[in-house]
Amino acid sequence: MAEKISIPRGTSDILPAESVVWQRVEEQARGTLERYGYREIRTPLFERTGLFARSMGETSDVVQKQMLNLSRTHLEDPSDPKEKEGFSLRPEGTASIVRSYIENNLDKQENLSKLYYIGAMFRGERPQKGRLRQFHQIGVEAIGPGSASPLLDAEVMALAVRILNALKLKDFELRLNTLGSVQDKESFSKTLRKMLQPHLKDLCPDCQQRVERNVFRVLDCKNKTCRATVDKLGLGDKHLSAESREYFTKVKEALELLGISYVEDPRLVRGLDYYNHTVFEITSPSLGSQDALGAGGRYNNLVRQLGGPDVDAVGFALGIERILLAMPAADNAPRPLDVFVIALKEDAQRTAFEMLDVLRRGGLRADMSYRPASVKSQMRQADKSGAPHVFILGEDEIQNGTVTVKDMREGTQIQEKQDHIGQWLVKVKERQS
Ligand code: AMP
Repeated sequence: MAEKISIPRGTSDILPAESVVWQRVEEQARGTLERYGYREIRTPLFERTGLFARSMGETSDVVQKQMLNLSRTHLEDPSDPKEKEGFSLRPEGTASIVRSYIENNLDKQENLSKLYYIGAMFRGERPQKGRLRQFHQIGVEAIGPGSASPLLDAEVMALAVRILNALKLKDFELRLNTLGSVQDKESFSKTLRKMLQPHLKDLCPDCQQRVERNVFRVLDCKNKTCRATVDKLGLGDKHLSAESREYFTKVKEALELLGISYVEDPRLVRGLDYYNHTVFEITSPSLGSQDALGAGGRYNNLVRQLGGPDVDAVGFALGIERILLAMPAADNAPRPLDVFVIALKEDAQRTAFEMLDVLRRGGLRADMSYRPASVKSQMRQADKSGAPHVFILGEDEIQNGTVTVKDMREGTQIQEKQDHIGQWLVKVKERQS
């Protein structure tokens, strides 16, 4: 026997029984997003590698360890210097959307672009529960001069919470912090580096490297001795300017206005370079070690850093697989057919095939057995399909131009003229709506 080919590790097939739930999650999310004024944007699944390095930061874990680069030999145009760096599958949505915002001059068209996306992301991770190499995110980015408001930070967080509420998720927590302005962040990173120097030997090997490369990550390291070392520094919020503190107060007031509960977490820093001011994470204890349902924050510098205008932005991304893990079990049965058509003889099958087309064009979900089979077997298929009505076409029906319509719930049956199927169809649809 030929060897079977298996799926790559860290990816998964979404089979029809599950895709019903995926569709529900996506539909619910779209509904909520659109009520908040967000419109969908679709960008390519791969981009030039430099986009991610320049936006997320050369030293971020994602860029250092998790980028999935495409083999350059096939794609790259050697004569085009822009393609020299190669391409990578997108590990997140923000960089691509900011690239598109700039490239399509969206700032010239609107004061605030409220954009959302739903799609696959790719990271070279070691797979485990809740951590995949291909996963899916629902995300938003609110970009433009009109984004510069603490109200929008609060609204973006509220939106993430409302999406999870609509999907009936419980027991999740919104954790919140501020990194301060771009200037606050810069001077704080210098101070932090200096403060940590005498304690280098107490830090884990990863954090020893982080002090130079990505010092904020030391603050959210889960290692016990790293945590104890950070505690000893007694950081507080001295590194924040008065304006940054005031901004954060306004964000929290706006959340309170909307009745969104949150927990302040001064250790929350997020791993990517582009964040400033508000950062947040939504966690659920039901998820185990990979407990983040989603995360986001403000990134006022990113658009300019990628060559665009000086405009502010804020956004988030929720992980769909993790939402599904945390969602209460629901009735995932697919919607049943409306009609199953049974043909008893070969010529009846042709009539059935034609009738099927009429029913479908009329808007009903209809099916039949394409291969000749015994009545018993066809009845079994009809039963399994869950269709409340079964059409039976036997010898008599073909001769009389009729069809037997069996009501599976009532157990009754009537004869209908084949020509009257259109009217019958209207009646059924009226009953459905
Ligand atoms: P991040 O950009 O890493 O903050 O990711 C935002 C959200 O996407 C996370 O909170 C997760 O819900 C989800 N996510 C990130 N990485 C993965 C992954 N490797 N597998 C599954 N979900 C992920």
